[in-house]
Amino acid sequence: MAPRNRNRNRNGNWRPPPPDPPPVSDQSWPALTMAPLENQLSALTVRQERTEPKLPFSNPKQMVTFKVGAGWNSEEFLVYKDIACRGSKVFERAFNGGFEEGRTQTYELDDVDPDTFRYFSEWLYSQKLTLMNHEILDKSTWTEAEIQAHNIECSQEDKHLVGLWILGDKFDVVALQNYAIDQMERVRIKCGFMGITCAQSIYENTMPGSPLRRLVVDQHILDGTFSFMAIYASKFPQEMLADMVTIYARVQDLPQSKKTELRVDEYYVVDK
Ligand SMILES: [Zn+2]
Repeated sequence: MAPRNRNRNRNGNWRPPPPDPPPVSDQSWPALTMAPLENQLSALTVRQERTEPKLPFSNPKQMVTFKVGAGWNSEEFLVYKDIACRGSKVFERAFNGGFEEGRTQTYELDDVDPDTFRYFSEWLYSQKLTLMNHEILDKSTWTEAEIQAHNIECSQEDKHLVGLWILGDKFDVVALQNYAIDQMERVRIKCGFMGITCAQSIYENTMPGSPLRRLVVDQHILDGTFSFMAIYASKFPQEMLADMVTIYARVQDLPQSKKTELRVDEYYVVDK
């Protein structure tokens, strides 16, 4: 006897039962299941390498050492090897290669300020930096001493941001370079242009036309620092003075509204 509700159409008439499903053939299963076990495992390994990054802290005990700075201003930093290699392809090659760094698991950075490297370590671990809060700076409510104290720390922070951009350039950490650009412009808007030390460091460590050179020149032009620079002309890099004159001549042709704008993304490094 046919079941009461199945195989009836809306009018209650019988309709023929659906044909039986075709038998499941072994051929219909995915090839992976049919492959010998070692092939399955190698397929899985390949798949993981292609689509998923290695788990963080896969080697939770392996540390590498960065010897940073020189003389009295030097310090050793221990960083998880996974974190250092994840942060920079240059470190990954160095610590896994056959050269000095690979054998000793130590990287020497004698021309880097340990305080700059503190920020760099923070970036490697968290992709962000703990910076000063320039946003709340309201000089009208501050004493002269407070302003002075802020300005000293502020110029130190500028120096570290420049150092971080240069480290990013050296070790191919593009996101850090662009983050530093954002912060340098944020600080300029709140607290003013970068000083002589930063300008010197930028021109000593970058190539002509580099985004950081363009940024510092454009910032000085926007802030109209010519009278300041005239006083300290001998301390500013000669190349920077030449760049400023060249750019200043071009800016004169721009409409007034363009002279106060600065789009940070025009100074970003493009990830390769
Ligand atoms: Zn500031």
